[in-house]
Amino acid sequence: MERTHPSVDNLYRLLMGPVATTPEKPAVVQADENGALEETSYRRLDRQVEEYAAVLDGLGLDVGDRVVVEADTSAASVALLLACAKLGLPFVPVSPQSPDARLRSILRSVEPALHARAEGLDHREPTASVGSALFGPSGLVVERPPTRRVRRRRNVLATDTAYIIFTSGSTGTPKGVVMSHRSIVTFLRAMLADGLVAPDDRVAGTSPLQFDFALFGIGVALAAGATLVPVPRANLDSPRRMVGFLKDAEVTQVHGVPSLWRPVLRVDPDLLKELGQLRSVVFAGEEFPIPELRRLQETLPGVRLVNGYGATESMAASFTDVPDPLPADQERLPIGHAHSGAEMTLVGRQGEVLTEPGLTGEIYLHSPSLFTGYWNDPEATAAVLVPDPAEPRHGQVVLRTGDLARLGDHGELYFLGRSDYQVQIRGNRVELGEIEAALTRLPAVTAAAATLVPRAGDHVLMAAVVLDRPEAELDVRAALDFCARELPAYMVPRSIHTVPELPLTENGKVDRASLTRTLAAPR
Ligand code: ADP
Repeated sequence: MERTHPSVDNLYRLLMGPVATTPEKPAVVQADENGALEETSYRRLDRQVEEYAAVLDGLGLDVGDRVVVEADTSAASVALLLACAKLGLPFVPVSPQSPDARLRSILRSVEPALHARAEGLDHREPTASVGSALFGPSGLVVERPPTRRVRRRRNVLATDTAYIIFTSGSTGTPKGVVMSHRSIVTFLRAMLADGLVAPDDRVAGTSPLQFDFALFGIGVALAAGATLVPVPRANLDSPRRMVGFLKDAEVTQVHGVPSLWRPVLRVDPDLLKELGQLRSVVFAGEEFPIPELRRLQETLPGVRLVNGYGATESMAASFTDVPDPLPADQERLPIGHAHSGAEMTLVGRQGEVLTEPGLTGEIYLHSPSLFTGYWNDPEATAAVLVPDPAEPRHGQVVLRTGDLARLGDHGELYFLGRSDYQVQIRGNRVELGEIEAALTRLPAVTAAAATLVPRAGDHVLMAAVVLDRPEAELDVRAALDFCARELPAYMVPRSIHTVPELPLTENGKVDRASLTRTLAAPR
């Protein structure tokens, strides 16, 4: 069954490294069915990986055959992902909350050999052409074996695929991002070098398994020999339950999208004071609205707040400490410099590399951790894996991110927004992010989203805002006057709507398409 050579980068080898040095340390701490905390040591986790791998190996699958894993993050699901990695079977994580249509479209697209589901999930109609299995602490049970495959490959190489993540669509139509073992292992080694996680950290993950932010948490925690603490989804529904769980599990680092913190900041920020063990918060996936970030910083004095910027196509690109304290006039957050072993370059509209502070351009990433390509989409791949603009003659490809940034005085970058959030209004190029930044300067507004809404053959600009307290009210007239003073006339929203929460995607990012539909509906 040994398909990986010790000299070859492999996700399983990196993450199960601590078995040799700290076998009894908890790798995963999770809540059992009754909510009690249960520890899985590195040794036990590795044993579970071996058990799963033995069953998978008996199915006659070839290196490169895909396994869709439908589960929340748990010791069992981590073990299954690692068993797949060990055998060179790319895993495709899907969250149990994924709508049937999305799951079906993923199954159709990746044509997996096996669809493995965590025990205890709601029943879904199985897909006839795909093998199916159930897994849990007691093992991996194959319900319908996959059709026999031809074994053409003997070894798992560093260039082989570790996983395929389907993006959620906040960056365009969902695409299957194919990541190799070499890319993900090189990335996680950089995280170790940069010391993001210490071996004594207890790292809470809050993202669904289908979002690579969850894989990031699993990766950085286990690579460092630390402890992963998946937060049960039910605990994320209420600020009190979320804080209670983080406290009981003695979490020292929390990973989450900015919207994770919105309910607790609005309803009862003082709850956060109970988190005495907390040392750092890593947020990623989208911009953290500055008023909310400021509040988080004030409520958690001394806790390091880290802005993780990047895309699934390289897992992440940079980790930048939020200035402490955030200056009163801070308008955009720094995304700094790339992590160790990578570099971000700013490129202008004519493809020229920008080096002058103050200039704005698109971020290109040089990195050994770039994705291999989009699953079954060479055209989309070629559009973003492009020749290095600094020296195209090398033949090296770099990642064209589609993100805009401004260059600071010391070469650090400030995120400005996605280039596709640039819209045309009456012939003027407008960054929706700039309008949102202006709205969050209004006293009671803590988060905002602007969008173009179709109206009578044209488009009008509308905005939604979240206020700092549930009972607060917005003086819309004054807010529009404020916008008129702060922004050019064509950037002033036609209307501003107060909402208790911005609509979110399954991954917890602002869902602009849904907001546009809501604002377009006649009221
Ligand atoms: P999707 O959202 O479609 O699932 P990704 O998760 O890969 O796909 O989204 C990556 C994009 O998210 C980046 O290109 C960038 O626009 C945005 N993003 C990620 N992290 C940050 C951050 N810290 N600040 C601002 N934007 C971010």
